[in-house]
Amino acid sequence: MGIHEQNPGRTELSELGEFGLIDRLTANIEIHNSSTLKGIGDDAAVLDYDNKLILVTQDLLNEGVHFDLAYTPLKHLGYKAAVVNFSDIYAMNGQPRQLIIGISVSNRFSVEALEEFYNGLKIACDKYGVDMVGGDTTSSRTGFFISITVIGEAERDKVVYRNGAKPNDLICVSGDLGGAYMGLLVLEREKKAFLSNPAVQPELEGNDYVLERQLKPEARRDVIRMLHDAGIVPSSMIDISDGLASELLHICQQSGTGCAVYEEKIPIDPATLLLCEEFKIIPSVAALNGGEDYELLFTIPLSDYEKIQGLPGISVIGHITEASEGKNLITNDRKLIPLQAQGWNHMRS
Ligand code: ADP
Ligand code: MG
Repeated sequence: MGIHEQNPGRTELSELGEFGLIDRLTANIEIHNSSTLKGIGDDAAVLDYDNKLILVTQDLLNEGVHFDLAYTPLKHLGYKAAVVNFSDIYAMNGQPRQLIIGISVSNRFSVEALEEFYNGLKIACDKYGVDMVGGDTTSSRTGFFISITVIGEAERDKVVYRNGAKPNDLICVSGDLGGAYMGLLVLEREKKAFLSNPAVQPELEGNDYVLERQLKPEARRDVIRMLHDAGIVPSSMIDISDGLASELLHICQQSGTGCAVYEEKIPIDPATLLLCEEFKIIPSVAALNGGEDYELLFTIPLSDYEKIQGLPGISVIGHITEASEGKNLITNDRKLIPLQAQGWNHMRS
């Protein structure tokens, strides 16, 4: 196919120009928060947070490194790119309020493709009540780069850091782990199969749960609300983006503690277990060293045990110890293994 061949319904970026593109992409943006005084359209957004603590977080995503457009629909990419930032704000026990997005795109992308991406962003913003208040748009030689900054708020006495865990605190995790990583393995397997024989249809059937975990993760706003309603303020908290092991080490390092986590207590969905069998991966390894589950890992004082017990979807997986006791996994056959942070990139290579 010649490179100049026109695709019906494809609008070239050059047809709109930068300002036309910005207008088109941001035409239907809605404002949800009273803290947003001025959104898109001026030289800077104007925010009014009264007396609240302000939380700021950013994520940078590079095509080919952080996402693969061979199997990531642009709408899902937009959704996920926003949600992973919201997750960071919830991990501080805060609420995300505003989002700023910078994109750098090559002319390989059409206006319609970028609109798909913005559709996903908008769905995430509307769902989580976040206002898109600005951004920047540049062209790139090749590839798609996305930088998203999210601003949030927290109550002064409710903000939760990574460094507050104390010996004997219970270690809790929301939802289940390892699913997003198994979803990635399924997608990469099907991509390989497709590249070696394009006639083969992808075998994605029956893997809905893990694919959704990978392609359309949610941030656990519901968990933050549930903890609030139960009168629990975690002593430390982090979201699970790099795998349980890595996040546990962050909490322990910053809190100056050790930990004891029980392999048998790590929550893993049956769909994830089945795929682990298929791929010959130990399920707890997928949970500990896989990534992108975007669940919350937090610690609570032992005195909150009663309160946490009744909460759905929360698992107590171990406890915080003195630093001298080390950071350990207690395996199903009662062996003590020091936790190691591999991160999920390591697993892939
Ligand atoms: P400036 O010249 O000050 O950088 P721009 O023309 O880039 O201004 O942006 C005009 C307005 O549009 C600003 O409010 C900016 O935040 C917003 N904006 C620019 N690019 C994007 C984008 N890709 N997505 C959302 N908002 C954008
Ligand atoms: Mg600009």
